[in-house]
Amino acid sequence: MTHGTHALKKVAFIGLGNMGAGMAANLAKQALSVAAFDLDPAAIALAAAKGCVAHDSTAAAVADADIVITMLPAGRQVRQVWSEAIIPNARTGTLLIDCSTIDIESARLVHDAASKAGFRSADAPVSGGVMAAESGALTFMVGCDEAVFDDVKKALAPMAKAVIHAGDAGAGQAAKACNNMLLGISMLGVCEAFALAEKLGLSAERFFEIAAQSSGQCWSLTTYCPWPGPVPSAPSNRNYAGGFLTALMLKDLKLAQAAAAGCGAATPLGAQAEAIYALFDGLGHGEKDFSAILQLVRGKLSDL
Ligand code: NAD
Repeated sequence: MTHGTHALKKVAFIGLGNMGAGMAANLAKQALSVAAFDLDPAAIALAAAKGCVAHDSTAAAVADADIVITMLPAGRQVRQVWSEAIIPNARTGTLLIDCSTIDIESARLVHDAASKAGFRSADAPVSGGVMAAESGALTFMVGCDEAVFDDVKKALAPMAKAVIHAGDAGAGQAAKACNNMLLGISMLGVCEAFALAEKLGLSAERFFEIAAQSSGQCWSLTTYCPWPGPVPSAPSNRNYAGGFLTALMLKDLKLAQAAAAGCGAATPLGAQAEAIYALFDGLGHGEKDFSAILQLVRGKLSDL
């Protein structure tokens, strides 16, 4: 049943991993139907248990959709799934939204292919991890034509704390690269400050209390403190399990450096952050939350 202009839409969701599972479930609570597909049958079964309709291919899932959302690992998968399965099988006019974090070039490439085939499209990467995906509290940074944004915002609302129009095609990915480069740098800054405070004989708790109310205050310190204790909800209190994985931070820092190289921006701290996270990942800590890098900076890797 439809209600005037607020007709419930049919959504197809492709990529039901750590993030996509929660996102698709939140849509299923609102949308008429969520047609779901993933290469992993276990992920499809889990989505079906949360109210989605299981399909055995992307082609089948998108055939009857008004909106298609992808949440895939990287640019390679997005290019492949959009060009080989979505564009050839979805109805012309369908709104295609990619929420994966991918390189700006791939994002523009799939926008172009979609637009040539008569689709409206958006890149809409997210900030917020698995918990925000589950609770419907993600921030979406959207790259699309101004005229398409209203529909994108409505489509993403059930999964969102905020949906912000960053600019034209690719601008969502650009914003994501800048934000996460800043996050990687600020986390390293906070870790270095704690390491220095420790060597200078300051109590970590007292230093936190001071910096939290001084000019060093930032999200990495007061919301996500890498030192266990001061912020009870931070992953540092559970030996850096879960949270935002080091491997994903490294991925995003690499994307930021590739973007910087492509446009000639000088990002020396971003480059350092990438190198330090690559070292930490190479030491076997890719599955730890990215704030665990505190222990590398302190010279206390044996504590992990
Ligand atoms: P994930 O690896 O858990 O999930 C990706 C899913 O895509 C998997 O289930 C995989 O089977 C599926 N898949 C791969 N190729 C496919 C194909 N061809 N067809 C259908 N399904 C396919 O990854 P994730 O943690 O959910 O992250 C998804 C995206 O979100 C990534 O781009 C990541 O960088 C970004 N992201 C992740 C987080 C996070 O905290 N995990 C936060 C923000 C952004």
